[in-house]
Amino acid sequence: MYQKGHYGVSLLVFAPIAFVLLLFEHAELAVVVGATMLSFAMLPDLDHRVPGIPHRGPTHSFAFAALVGGVFGAAGFALETAAGNAGALDVGTVLGGVSLAAAGFGLGALTVVAHLLGDAVTPAGVNFLWPFSTRTYTLGLWRADNTIANYGLLAIGVFATAAAVYLGAAF
Ligand SMILES: [Zn+2]
Repeated sequence: MYQKGHYGVSLLVFAPIAFVLLLFEHAELAVVVGATMLSFAMLPDLDHRVPGIPHRGPTHSFAFAALVGGVFGAAGFALETAAGNAGALDVGTVLGGVSLAAAGFGLGALTVVAHLLGDAVTPAGVNFLWPFSTRTYTLGLWRADNTIANYGLLAIGVFATAAAVYLGAAF
């Protein structure tokens, strides 16, 4: 998909997470997760700009999701260590026992997977299992440049997130 469609799919994936985080009164975490998922929603499409990497090749795979998860996890670990040393943050309490490294890994991987889902609806598909297989998987619903699909996904994503925030804050 194009950027709008990807934002829409990312918001759709984010909506249930936002709901749960708000339910447990972690609005600040919901903001961080949402902002990160949107900021990096187009990361796999860097392959347009890096010479020698085919579009929808290596960066459109679970392997790349794991790689990005690893980077985010390392950042989380560093943050956790630094904040812990400074006594600034009791991460265990904030995340209900989940380490910031694990949360970072999940966030990074999920951000990429959301992008892959957005591309999997288009006929060109996604080679999720690269490098083990170059087979592409697709739902074949719309072409990536379909204007209605891109705006439609964005609208659905915004609506889902708004509903999740409303409900999560209400309970
Ligand atoms: Zn893509």
